[in-house]
Amino acid sequence: MTVTTSGCSIGADALAAIKAGLEAANVDADVVVAGNFVATIRQLTGSCTYHVDRGAGVVGAKTVNAPGGPTIVFNYDIASQTPAPELERLAAHEAGHVLLYGRAEHVSDYQHLVTNEADWHLLCVASFAAEEFRIESALPAFGYQPWTADPAQHTVDALAELNYQVISSVLGEPTVEQMRDKVLAAQDVFSKVLAYSAGAHVSGGPMNVQSLAGDAAAEWNDLVGESWENRLKLWRSLPDAWHATAEGQWPGTLVAGLALERQFLERLGFHYELTDEGLLFARTGSDELFNQRLERAQRDFPE
Ligand SMILES: [Zn+2]
Repeated sequence: MTVTTSGCSIGADALAAIKAGLEAANVDADVVVAGNFVATIRQLTGSCTYHVDRGAGVVGAKTVNAPGGPTIVFNYDIASQTPAPELERLAAHEAGHVLLYGRAEHVSDYQHLVTNEADWHLLCVASFAAEEFRIESALPAFGYQPWTADPAQHTVDALAELNYQVISSVLGEPTVEQMRDKVLAAQDVFSKVLAYSAGAHVSGGPMNVQSLAGDAAAEWNDLVGESWENRLKLWRSLPDAWHATAEGQWPGTLVAGLALERQFLERLGFHYELTDEGLLFARTGSDELFNQRLERAQRDFPE
C-alpha cells in the first residue's frame, strides 16, 4: 500500500484501519487521502463531471482508474469522522473496486456495446449496481457485517426517496434535460441501494421484502415488484469481485443489465431513446399513477 495525502494529514488510527481493510481483502492498492476530494478525483480521472453528492449523501471514498492504475481516494472530510471499524470496512469495499478495475470488469471499456447516449447512461447504471453487488456479497467472507443491520428499513427510506424524486422530476416546468437528469440520478442511487441490499441478502442478511407494509409495500409493488427477481437472478449469476467472470460474461451482463434498467425506467414511468429528432426523454406513466405517487410522497414527506 502506498499512501499519499493531499491537502490534509491523516491520523495513525485511520491509516491503520485503511491498511487493515486492504489486508483483510488481500488487495494491495495505491491510496490517496484527499482534503479536496472532488478536485483530486477530477485530477486523477480528467473528468469534470464528478460530483460528491450522489443525492443520498456524500461518499467517503471512490476508486478511480488513474493512469498509474486503480487508486482509492478517501475523502478526508468524511474519513476523518468515520469510526475505525467502518473505515476498515470501506477500505475492504474499495479493494473490490480495485480488483474489478484491474480486470476491466467495469463499464469504461465497454462504450462500444452501445450506439447512443441514452443506452450509455443506462449501461453505466447497470454496471455500477452490478459492481456494488459483487463487492458487498463478498465482504462477509472477510469477516465484515452486512452494510446495514436493517436493509429493509434502508429499502423503505430509499423507496420513499425514489418516489419523491420521480414525482419532483415532473413538477414545475422542468426542461427535458432537468427531468432526465433527476430521474436517472435517482435510478442510479436506487439501483445501488438494491445492489447493497441484495448483497446482504445473499450473505444471509435480513432483506425480507415481505416484511414491507403500508405505503412501503405500495411503493415496492409500484416501483420494484417483479423486477427485483430479475435483478437478483442476473447479479447472482456473477462471481463476487474477488473472482473473475468467465470469458464474455461481463459484457453479456452489461447488455442484460442495460435491458433491465430500461425496463425499470419504463416502470418508473419514463421512456428514453434516440430518435430521428434526437434524444427523447418523455413521461409515459399515467396521470393516475403519478397522482398516487404524489399522494404517497406527501405522506412520506409532510411539510
Ligand atoms: Zn462501491
